[in-house]
Amino acid sequence: MTAAIETVQHSPQSILETVFGFDQFRPPQDAIIDTLMAGGDALVLMPTGGGKSLCYQIPALAREGCGVVISPLIALMQDQVNALKLLGVRTAFLNSTLDFSEAQEIEQALRSGNLDLLYIAPERLTQARSIELLKASKIALFAIDEAHCVSQWGHDFRADYLQLTLLHELFPDIPRVALTATADARTRQEIVSRLQLDQASQFIAGFDRPNIRYRIGLKNNGKQQLLKFLKEEHPHDAGIVYCLSRRKTEEVAQWLRDQGFTAMAYHAGLSAEIRASNQARFLREEGIIIVATIAFGMGIDKPDVRFVAHLDLPKTVESYYQETGRAGRDGLPADAWLVYGLQDVIKLRQMMEGSQGNEEHKRAEQHRLNAMLGLCEITSCRRQALLAYFGDELEKPCGNCDTCLQAPETWDATEAARKALSAAWRTGQRFGVNHLIDVLRGSNSDKIFQFEHQNLPVYGIGDELDNNQWRSVFRQLVARGYMSVDMERYGALRLEEKCRPLLRGEQAIELRKDIKLKSAKAKKPKVELASDADVDLFEALRACRKQFADELNVPPYMIFHDSTLQEMCISKPRNMEEFAEISGVGEQKLEKYGPGFLEAITRFQSA
Ligand code: ADP
Ligand code: ZN
Repeated sequence: MTAAIETVQHSPQSILETVFGFDQFRPPQDAIIDTLMAGGDALVLMPTGGGKSLCYQIPALAREGCGVVISPLIALMQDQVNALKLLGVRTAFLNSTLDFSEAQEIEQALRSGNLDLLYIAPERLTQARSIELLKASKIALFAIDEAHCVSQWGHDFRADYLQLTLLHELFPDIPRVALTATADARTRQEIVSRLQLDQASQFIAGFDRPNIRYRIGLKNNGKQQLLKFLKEEHPHDAGIVYCLSRRKTEEVAQWLRDQGFTAMAYHAGLSAEIRASNQARFLREEGIIIVATIAFGMGIDKPDVRFVAHLDLPKTVESYYQETGRAGRDGLPADAWLVYGLQDVIKLRQMMEGSQGNEEHKRAEQHRLNAMLGLCEITSCRRQALLAYFGDELEKPCGNCDTCLQAPETWDATEAARKALSAAWRTGQRFGVNHLIDVLRGSNSDKIFQFEHQNLPVYGIGDELDNNQWRSVFRQLVARGYMSVDMERYGALRLEEKCRPLLRGEQAIELRKDIKLKSAKAKKPKVELASDADVDLFEALRACRKQFADELNVPPYMIFHDSTLQEMCISKPRNMEEFAEISGVGEQKLEKYGPGFLEAITRFQSA
């Protein structure tokens, strides 16, 4: 009898409800958990925010013994442990930040069966001492987080991950689950072979992040465009702004501060203390903007990042997807916003030319940049193109990207393109875009006369387009590979083989009309609340949450996510029972914070 009750209490479903406060699994969480419960291995590929952690946390709690989670990021470990402790889960981590006696205490807890989950760094796990410890303890499962770190070709490679095959060799009966958000098939194959997961069931979720709205627009004045975007759509939200250079991140952060935002720079050139403190503020405080190079991101698990803005073009679709993926992990609407122009293309090509590495490497880089440019210039759904790049198919246009929301217009640019190409050809392929436009538009600049370009047949043949329109033509010709940028000649535009049929009149070309990115404000409130009063209540609950967070010295989202506060605003619970119904409220949080939030709601309503 008692045993039966025990099993019921510890079923994955009941743990989901009582500990985490959620009603339902999001498929394929349930199937993954079933596999592990039955003792099988699993390989899990799920996008960021898909809910990977529950896939091992729940079976770790439901199975006898302690779940051991191998995680490469010490900062994240700390976060996960803090979050689980707030749920009443007995959790600890073992890594190099602990002193000997702290570590000993945790080892003791593990041996005597007083831990539900143990996070451990890979280099620690593979030490003989740790292996002995695990051998002497009851283990529920092994979870290998960020499993793509075994891939020697990826940029997150960790040599220690290669040692993890010892889990399989030394603990053949304990289920293992490897998890990653990295999409491509080659990496997946590598994970299977290097971790000896041939027998594992594979769970591959689609990579779509439907709550992220993708927008890519033309840059004319990046900072002003960003300011407008922030003011209109995210005046009080947390977000990340990516720039290419360290200097620019500092400059933009300063400028945003001057405009009244709380913004901080983050790049590899800052001291470790400053980086840690900026990152901590981003996590702990609300509404902070981080202006960063790519150095920022890995290990940021903040669920309520409402926007990711790119002021410079990312080098690859992979990095674009990874960086924008840091927005909206909580599933609420979020924005991925990018502006770019011809100058970005020139700058990136320049960086690539100057980079170390052989010709083959450079060609591969070029190729990946071209894919990114292709994404910028397409006239069909961005999300379909993005997913297709990762081998995922989306049947219908998404309805939540700029090209879906406002179909871009195209125009027959055959004649203009031919003029543009001729201008480059007739001037000896030695000049950059500004001078070529001067030639086409018949300018009287000194440079024209210096090179006697006023005598060329192409001089002044392009009056029908203005400067911006010509820039747009050149940009798209470069992006589509009709022209290339000559780095030895400071950005001179050259003709590529591909333009021959166009020049001979055998081919026509359609180009995109450049339009300004429209504000999406009207369509997408940050939180979907019906009335102004609810919005005020939301703010009151945010204040209540901040108080608890500060007392416990944890980030506010660890108390409750925005989506949980949002639900409180809508259902306005009157007592503990009703409060318990809210998604994200488990037993522990009900008891600890229920009374405080209920009081805030009552106070607000009687005010
Ligand atoms: P990942 O590690 O895949 O990026 P997380 O495990 O951090 O994602 O989960 C993302 C968010 O989704 C978290 O806020 C988590 O609480 C929430 N979540 C996960 N599973 C569920 C579920 N079954 N019901 C409701 N919310 C869930
Ligand atoms: Zn779309």
